[in-house]
Amino acid sequence: MSAHPERVLMGPGPANPYPEVIEAFTRPVVGHLDPAFLELLDETNERLRRLFRTQNALTFPISGTGSAGMEAAFVNFVGPGDVVVIGVNGVFGERMCDVAARCGADVVRVDAEWGRPLDPQALLDAHSAPTAIALVHAETSTGVRNDIACLGQGKGDALLIVDCVTSVAGIPVEIDAWGVDVAYAGTQKCLGVPPGLAPFTASEAALARRRERPSSWYLDLGMIARYVTGDGGRAYHHTAPISMVYALHAGLGVVLDEGLEAGWARHEACGTALQDGLEARGLELFAEAGHRLPQLTSVRIPAGRLADGLDEATARRRLLERWGIEVGGGLGPVAGQAWRIGCMGHTARQRNVTLLLAAMAELLDP
Ligand SMILES: *Cc1c(COP(=O)(O)O)cnc(C)c1O
Repeated sequence: MSAHPERVLMGPGPANPYPEVIEAFTRPVVGHLDPAFLELLDETNERLRRLFRTQNALTFPISGTGSAGMEAAFVNFVGPGDVVVIGVNGVFGERMCDVAARCGADVVRVDAEWGRPLDPQALLDAHSAPTAIALVHAETSTGVRNDIACLGQGKGDALLIVDCVTSVAGIPVEIDAWGVDVAYAGTQKCLGVPPGLAPFTASEAALARRRERPSSWYLDLGMIARYVTGDGGRAYHHTAPISMVYALHAGLGVVLDEGLEAGWARHEACGTALQDGLEARGLELFAEAGHRLPQLTSVRIPAGRLADGLDEATARRRLLERWGIEVGGGLGPVAGQAWRIGCMGHTARQRNVTLLLAAMAELLDP
């Protein structure tokens, strides 16, 4: 499937797909209203409920990447003049502010320094009665995990909107137990499926407050719900990306067969091994201890530490060309000074960690 079958994808996504997922892409395409496809879609939605740990009836893959999930989470629930409190400690929190503002929301930002977690109490105290509180669970731009559970307890009538793009299948996500109303994910991070769908879930309470005519036609949950849940009869809305749904179904099969807890433990073991290995080589991790994501490690790469006078971009290029390993560059305050290394889904293997650390030993000055 890949032009570079040897690539080890350790960037912030896409991760290497599971072999079962690659096989799923080769299956013959059927019609999007074929009963066989609808049965597979229903099963995919059921698998997504298990992934998100939710009973929410409206749980399905949105056609589009993780960003389409973000748009859907805002356009359906937020309108002009609504107060939305948004936690910002990286790129994706910033993006949420942009999306909410385009919906006409009155955005109340609660910032934390990049590399540090958001303060949940500051989010709860930011406004007395917001329409929604929104934040990113796993900030892929910094490698920081933000706490969600305490927000569900303290949010009052506000809808809790959570970006789970990089968290699902990598670290615990408990939509119902945490009181999350709306959540979305992506396929190419810890699910080990190529990019193209945004798993999505919304609670009954959220749907009761859904906007009748959101500004997006394509992402109108009211219309999509008929197609994906069959409630009121299946009706054409848009053509589902059939092969992507096959792939997600297969990827979820792998994830659930392994067991969510076992998968979280595998990510934890790889992330810890990588982070310990980097620190042992005298490198400094960017994310605050105690809130580090195992699936996304951000590490400072000081120019002086690289061999042959390399700068970090050239060193990453060498990593790609010599060892076939792709890692991401730093963003925001550490642009040009840090790397973001993913250990996600099928990529989260000890052998990949070992290979990367060995390659880095050659790239770093002793
Ligand atoms: C990757 C990512 C997104 C965007 O997903 P796309 O698939 O690139 O559209 C949103 N939020 C977070 C936290 C991400 O890591």
